[in-house]
Amino acid sequence: MFFIGCHLSSSKGFEAMGKTALEINANTFQFFTRNPRGSQAKDINPQDAQALQLLLKTHHFGPIIAHAPYTLNPASADAKTRSFALQTMADDLARMEYLPGNLYNFHPGSHVGQGAPEGLRLIIEALNEILTPEQHTTVLLETMAGKGTEIGRSFDELKQILDGVKLNGKMGVCLDTCHVHDAGYSLAVLDGLLEEFDKQIGLKNLKAIHLNDSLNPRGARKDRHAAIGQGEIGTDTLSRVINHPALQNIPFCLETPNDLAGYAREIALLRSLHRQ
Ligand code: FE
Ligand code: FE
Ligand code: ZN
Repeated sequence: MFFIGCHLSSSKGFEAMGKTALEINANTFQFFTRNPRGSQAKDINPQDAQALQLLLKTHHFGPIIAHAPYTLNPASADAKTRSFALQTMADDLARMEYLPGNLYNFHPGSHVGQGAPEGLRLIIEALNEILTPEQHTTVLLETMAGKGTEIGRSFDELKQILDGVKLNGKMGVCLDTCHVHDAGYSLAVLDGLLEEFDKQIGLKNLKAIHLNDSLNPRGARKDRHAAIGQGEIGTDTLSRVINHPALQNIPFCLETPNDLAGYAREIALLRSLHRQ
């Protein structure tokens, strides 16, 4: 199956997102669990969550992706910032139990000058507090561009986190094409990149792809997304990504600068480029 979708606004609730996805011919999507700035989340409406689960099942969607607020920093030097990240993520995971069997993606964090080893230690510590054997959600580390002191710009750092987490069977990785390009990996040499991923992390742990072009040259560490074909990665390379035999049956999610009509056009384009 080819699962393709985009980031959607969650302001009208769960089922509304599913209906919007259907309108643009998507069979997966991503949403923020709360305001991306990390404020209070709305109360869950269990009927609405159930209605979405039914829609996803009826229309054979792939896993959907909840995205944590990108302002959280479980690797912060400040204990209050760390505990806020931890509480927010634990709360998000409790809410995700209303949508069992899906994915929760987060940015590992920034070490803010403490050094990567200390950042990695703090992220592992947070995950070891948050994850439970009972949860039905897979928690994903997103590959990062390496802006500032961001952790997770190399597969090696992500591997270190997974190695340190006790319940790492509940975890996986979301590969963002813009971010790995900005971090210096070459998507043009896709087999080599995936071999490296497999060696470090294991391809079985690759659970989702953020499909974005990048405004900047490889290695720029900027993290500025571009529409498909309007950046430095290009349509040909992104087409090879969606068609790679090792990447079938995982959700591809667009986070390109687009309105809904633009997303619909990109989804149609990618469907036309995907060889069944
Ligand atoms: Fe992200
Ligand atoms: Fe992303
Ligand atoms: Zn990004």
